[in-house]
Amino acid sequence: MKILSVNCGSSSLKFQMYEMPEEKVLISGVFERIGIGESFYTIKFNGEKTKVEATLDNHKTAFEILIKELLDRKVVANLDEIKGIGHRVVQGGTYFDKTVVVDEDVLAKIEELCVLAPLHNPAAIIGINAAKEVVPGAVQTVVFDTAFHQTMAEENYLYALPYDWCEKYRIRRYGAHGTSHKYITKRMSELLNRDDLKLIICHIGNGASISAVKDGKCVNTSMGLTPNAGLIMGSRCGDIDATILTYLMDKENISAKEMDRILNKESGLLGISGVSSDSRDIEDGIAAGNVRCELAQTMYVKRIVDYIAKYYVELEGCDAIVFTAGVGENSKNTRMQVMERLAVLGIKPDSEANDVRGEERVITATDSTVPCYIVPTDEEVMIARDTYELI
Ligand code: AMP
Repeated sequence: MKILSVNCGSSSLKFQMYEMPEEKVLISGVFERIGIGESFYTIKFNGEKTKVEATLDNHKTAFEILIKELLDRKVVANLDEIKGIGHRVVQGGTYFDKTVVVDEDVLAKIEELCVLAPLHNPAAIIGINAAKEVVPGAVQTVVFDTAFHQTMAEENYLYALPYDWCEKYRIRRYGAHGTSHKYITKRMSELLNRDDLKLIICHIGNGASISAVKDGKCVNTSMGLTPNAGLIMGSRCGDIDATILTYLMDKENISAKEMDRILNKESGLLGISGVSSDSRDIEDGIAAGNVRCELAQTMYVKRIVDYIAKYYVELEGCDAIVFTAGVGENSKNTRMQVMERLAVLGIKPDSEANDVRGEERVITATDSTVPCYIVPTDEEVMIARDTYELI
């Protein structure tokens, strides 16, 4: 059965088509700069990558081109072969704790939740509607980034604000990256052959979050009402004293919207280093003796360690610490620095084992109290799996 995993951003559409249940990737790609000019798409097929410039006025056009590519390359013989299309949606609020099939009510709820994810949920709705028009026969599903975190207890998801505000405006910790945290949870159960695990999962990419997972369920997670909470990220500040905002808005005479942009786009590694949001550039800067890059990296690592320590206590120990996503999978330096700072817990890195990129393996010595792992994440396959199961 052929299933398409789709991830729509405001100006992008990433896709991966699977043969299920084998989980074989048949074709993948990304449409970029949709609706903003100079648009193009890249496709990976049969080990070859092609880049094509194309006019992409909207997501429907992108879907139409995608379908044409699938037919031209004979990935499918006709549209009826595409049995399901799974869409990634960032915010499912308290409505959704699992993947569901799209209907009018589901769409209305995603729409209603746009206030909580103004950059992401509208793009998903556009993607769902475009897919419905272009492939009307396929079952459409929605996979929520927040769903995996719905098992948190009230004391972990509530903020200490006036309670009626929390209720009225649905202010609470929702978390994000849930599809990735769920994938890693499942993979660790397979690797350790047990479901009753206590895991600390570090999804450290451009966006970054850590989750504490017990018996397959999320106990706590570092992202909050929005994805700008918890860890220091590429250009997001993560946790800060909330009163800094009102102070700075007053001093700099800037609007809430502008403040929001600065906290999301000009902070984090970029804000401190003044160089880049990309951890590769930070590492290059450190090698060149840039002290602000060094400071940014020290703060970045420290925040990860703070969260691991917090969750280690909350879980009363743990069976494994897992690194995943762009930095977690690829940066041996960041992993090493985190593990070295955890020596007090009896964690002993194995520098030779850690000297890899994107490979699933243990990176601690055999006498480490807690093993640390690299496990490459795969959010797209989770979307395909959920969609296949629902069909
Ligand atoms: P993601 O958001 O998971 O796609 O992660 C993207 C981020 O991973 C990039 O912005 C980089 O900061 C980081 N990254 C990718 N490759 C490397 C690498 N070899 N070394 C350090 N960081 C990397």
